[in-house]
Amino acid sequence: MNKIIHKFLKEIDSRNSHEPEFMQAVKEVSEDLIPYIVSQKIYHGKNILMRMIEPERVVMFRVNWIDDSGEIRVNRGYRVEMNSAIGPYKGGLRFHPSVNLSILKFLAFEQVFKNSLTTLPMGGGKGGSDFDPKNKSDGEVMRFCQSFMTELFRHIGPNTDIPAGDIGVGGREIGYLFGQYKRLKNEFTGVLTGKGVSWGGSLIRPEATGYGTVYFAEDMLNHIGDSIQGKTVTISGSGNVGQYAAEKCIQLGAKVVTMSDSSGYIYDKEGIDEKKLAYIMDIKNNKRGRISDYLKKYPKAEFKKNKNPWGVKCDVALPSATQNELNGSDAKLLVKNGCICVAEGANMPCDSDAIKIFKSKKVLFAPGKASNAGGVAVSGLEMAQNSLRYSWSREEVDEKLKKIMIRIHKKCLEHGKEKDYVDYGKGANISAFIKVADAMLAQGVV
Ligand code: NDP
Repeated sequence: MNKIIHKFLKEIDSRNSHEPEFMQAVKEVSEDLIPYIVSQKIYHGKNILMRMIEPERVVMFRVNWIDDSGEIRVNRGYRVEMNSAIGPYKGGLRFHPSVNLSILKFLAFEQVFKNSLTTLPMGGGKGGSDFDPKNKSDGEVMRFCQSFMTELFRHIGPNTDIPAGDIGVGGREIGYLFGQYKRLKNEFTGVLTGKGVSWGGSLIRPEATGYGTVYFAEDMLNHIGDSIQGKTVTISGSGNVGQYAAEKCIQLGAKVVTMSDSSGYIYDKEGIDEKKLAYIMDIKNNKRGRISDYLKKYPKAEFKKNKNPWGVKCDVALPSATQNELNGSDAKLLVKNGCICVAEGANMPCDSDAIKIFKSKKVLFAPGKASNAGGVAVSGLEMAQNSLRYSWSREEVDEKLKKIMIRIHKKCLEHGKEKDYVDYGKGANISAFIKVADAMLAQGVV
């Protein structure tokens, strides 16, 4: 089996070797899928995995805009339309200086599997730009978004490709992007998700990824007869996912002791309660400040500059910032300090070494494609509400989200259950693959 996997990866590598994040994601998935494909005759001779690894379409474009000093700036825009076998392309837009084709292809590839797991009819895509919204005025962000959409609009549509937010793309950016799309097309349609509630957005969408990650962690703990109540939790990130993961942990009676941003992490050993979290949300969302500002109001907490929080003792860890932010040494430290459950709020925050360690030590480990799927699931519910021209209440959406996370957990068990351990990664990969692969087979070689 190892030989077959090695041969396959060598071929993929020869075409994509300059894309390390994409190769990392493909390798992780292939190691689970190839043995499964070999065991299932219907997939033989169909080259199905190779077809899934190649994006259906990649669009790359220039984004010119004018900054506040009158200077013309040039950024690069992308949309990777990975797979539309089970529905229109769906996935976020990321605005961050690190954005490149490798990162977007890895995210789009993961998105195909994640969207399949939600059980909603959504294909997978991802896009974005190397534009950095940090330290830009509202006017600059608006001009950038308008220029970006002036090219992107011809490739997307409510039945074709429906982008959403991701790192650096929150409510403000979605508003500017939507405004420009509406102006160019002269139509008010659900072409983006993550919209404001008064203009087509869904209640609970901002909360959904963070809440869903915690619901999934709770499902894993419940499965072994435990719960998150009373547990000490470390969280990285303090953006959309981190904030709402913290909020749900607090609501469920857990103690959140860390949050972070790209400058370092704060450790509050007394726990970040609702009032303290509201202060963090104000710093990050309204003042666009740094996590270290937390100490201005809560000086008893500690700030560790340029460090991640994985050395802090905890029962549950929720990495919710960015890819490859938790490596093998971090994983060893977490295990040594007694961590029993890791659920990825971010996409691929744990590198391959870390995942191997969690599995070998039988730590409950949820891959992002399962645990953070709540965000895109509620985006799917936003699309449904837009089509119906109707909106569900907060309670209705939250209930649907909880049920979707339970269904994803069940799907992971179907193919991930081993003697005394659940391999959630393998379970997620195989369950997600079956739905997409079967649709591709039914639709012929297209
Ligand atoms: P935000 O931009 O709202 O927040 C990102 C957070 O991560 C910020 O605190 C940011 O710090 C921190 N961060 C970003 N890059 C780094 C880095 N290189 N090192 C350390 N910290 C970093 O993004 P989201 O919360 O929306 O997204 C976080 C993760 O969750 C991403 O992996 C995203 O793909 C994934 N995700 C998001 C979904 C969503 O619905 N939003 C859905 C599913 C997955 P700083 O403020 O300093 O930049």
